[in-house]
Amino acid sequence: MDLGIKDKKAIVCAASKGLGRACAMALAKNGVDLVINSRTASELEATAADIRAATGRAVTAVACDITTPEGRAQVLAACPNPDILVNNAGGPPRGDFREWNEADWMKAVNGNMVTPIMLIKAVVDGMVARKFGRIVNITSSSVKSPIAELGMSNGARAGLTGFVGGLARQVARHNVTINGLLPGPFLTDRLRSGRMDAAKKAGVPVDEFIAEHFKNSPTGRPGNPFEFGEACAFLCAASSGFIVGQNLLLDGGAFNSALG
Ligand code: NAP
Repeated sequence: MDLGIKDKKAIVCAASKGLGRACAMALAKNGVDLVINSRTASELEATAADIRAATGRAVTAVACDITTPEGRAQVLAACPNPDILVNNAGGPPRGDFREWNEADWMKAVNGNMVTPIMLIKAVVDGMVARKFGRIVNITSSSVKSPIAELGMSNGARAGLTGFVGGLARQVARHNVTINGLLPGPFLTDRLRSGRMDAAKKAGVPVDEFIAEHFKNSPTGRPGNPFEFGEACAFLCAASSGFIVGQNLLLDGGAFNSALG
């Protein structure tokens, strides 16, 4: 399937590993040139080299913290007029909300709500003027089905989702779409690190522990980041201009509902 996005330019945030990396790879395989970002320069450069080798596309690596104004300025300087923006950042920690102070909440809201909104603000009017734009926000299944111990994630990401629900309808007539991709469990470092302690306690390798844990889910397994990347590329396709303000849950059917 030709997605019709060859030679477009994309910013993919938080993309040295996991879901961001998978989105970057999928876009590059469809002919998109990239600016990718994450904080650890060595890992980011290695990922950029992998994507270049696999796709032959131009990949610029900008190592910085995307949740800071300085970091965002660096990324935007490398790609001031992107056709595609994939918003992503690390997720807030688990815990009991009684343990979180105001600064913890501000950090979560900044990382998972304000940061993507600031990036959207910086690029959306250019997309409108050029009559093409695809913005994908990586959020979480917790937006749809809250996970109690991920309270800061539930809250901050729901805030982003509410905001873009309105904006998406304002820019859609200019062929600019904004949609959310809601990951359930995907086999990334984040999922592994969250299960490491339990796996150690159980005395089994973490991937084995995870496989056992998801044995009884509808798919019988966690998601493969590759599958997430493909969904992201699909939302960025030239033919996806009528998919507006949607929140696509990729959880292998874990959320039990007849209507998505
Ligand atoms: P991951 O495998 O740990 O990868 C996270 C990536 O983000 C890394 O490249 C990391 O690189 C980068 N990063 C983190 N904080 C950053 C920052 N402030 N600025 C720039 N880059 C940053 O995580 P993932 O599983 O792909 O998760 C991606 C997002 O999806 C997270 O918000 C996570 O909470 C959410 N999510 C994931 C799952 C899942 O099952 N995997 C489920 C629901 C939601 P550096 O550390 O070097 O910066």
